[in-house]
Amino acid sequence: MSTSEKTSVVSGFYKLPIEKRREFVAKFADLNEDDMKSFSSPLDLTTADRMIENVLGTFEVPLGLAVNFLINNKEYIIPMATEESSVVAAASNAAKIARVKGGFSTTCSEPLMIGQLQLLHIKDVATAAQKIIHHKKQLLTLANAQDKILVDFGGGAKDIEVRILDSPLGHMIITHLIVDVRDAMGANAVNTMCEALAPILEEITGGKVRLKILSNLADKRLVKATATFDKEKIGGDRVVDAFLESYVLAAIDPYRAATHNKGIMNGIDALIIATGNDFRAIEAGAHAYAARNGQYTSLTHYHKNKNGDLVGEIELPLAVGVVGGAANMHPKAKLCRKILGVKSAKELAEVVASLGLAQNFAALFALSTVGIQKGHMSLHAKNISVMAGAQGEEIEKLAGQLVHDGKVKLDYAKELLEKIRKKD
Ligand code: NAD
Repeated sequence: MSTSEKTSVVSGFYKLPIEKRREFVAKFADLNEDDMKSFSSPLDLTTADRMIENVLGTFEVPLGLAVNFLINNKEYIIPMATEESSVVAAASNAAKIARVKGGFSTTCSEPLMIGQLQLLHIKDVATAAQKIIHHKKQLLTLANAQDKILVDFGGGAKDIEVRILDSPLGHMIITHLIVDVRDAMGANAVNTMCEALAPILEEITGGKVRLKILSNLADKRLVKATATFDKEKIGGDRVVDAFLESYVLAAIDPYRAATHNKGIMNGIDALIIATGNDFRAIEAGAHAYAARNGQYTSLTHYHKNKNGDLVGEIELPLAVGVVGGAANMHPKAKLCRKILGVKSAKELAEVVASLGLAQNFAALFALSTVGIQKGHMSLHAKNISVMAGAQGEEIEKLAGQLVHDGKVKLDYAKELLEKIRKKD
């Protein structure tokens, strides 16, 4: 498919049979026969055994596709690996509304990660800190000698920062090694450099290095995405105002902010998992960033513009990679990257942030209008039907009846299933 005729908009995608959905993806992303086979093949055990310890098998979650995304004027279809119903549909709907006003726009800082070295047992911390800064060039050279490949790609250790912290054990010096990790997530790269610097830091300062490890608060690797949601498309001024009233609680109250941000991570984690990235690292970074000013708050912000449209913005650290880690080992992660068409870690991060904003808009939109349960009901009804013992075609039939009767409850489902079976 040529770039000009490529569109991520597909009406009624959810109604298509799986084979037809795959055909659409194959055309959109130029997938070959091997790629198509990969959709149905589970992770092979040899690869799994190489990835973690004591392997017994593999664990599957559904892989779905969010459509309609326009990000920085490029069309994207987004693979999402998640066990939670309604997440994929919600993201697709939000993206459809966002594209009316041009879709998502993003900005991204350089891929700078922070490694920490904790120095203890120093009498004069101020002088020791100055000595570290004085040896900056030597320290950076030693760090860069650990990863020639990264340096060849234009990355590598770029700076040293020193912090003095007080603790119940006395003062300590925390040296931050700032590393440009280019297209990698960077944890291994940074950890290796930190370990190499430890002996020389001890020599320079006469102290003892305890911890030498990456920080997941990657606040030098920030991504911002914004989108405007047309007020007419979402139900006019009344809905925009209701939306802003719903949003404000997340801005001021950590109890609400936790749930609000969890909704953002519904989308983000699904893409992070689909691309073989480290979702714990992303979660840790996002939540720590949400609490950076001392109170945990929303990762998104909303306001009304001059036209009365709703403008949403998200900002968070995103340490994602398109090389290294599981991203290059897991065949489905490679397939998902191909579907996305992302060429760099920066581009992947921009899609991730846009998806997080879409997910958050969709959740708040539902909460401000019909409530969250309505959208969840039909899939929830299917789960309840399975729990009640329904099999095969019974599942759809029973779920449909539960939704129709407005009673998606296990006891009622069991009762109804008995009746259906007697009738058939
Ligand atoms: P990695 O070491 O597997 O790969 C990164 C390396 O790839 C670089 O150091 C570089 O030598 C090479 N490379 C080749 N082409 C490159 C390019 N274009 N850009 C950048 N580097 C390129 O992986 P990593 O990204 O250093 O580490 C990620 C892994 O570390 C993840 O699996 C993560 O789960 C794990 N991890 C995370 C933590 C944490 O988050 N706290 C701690 C330890 C390990």
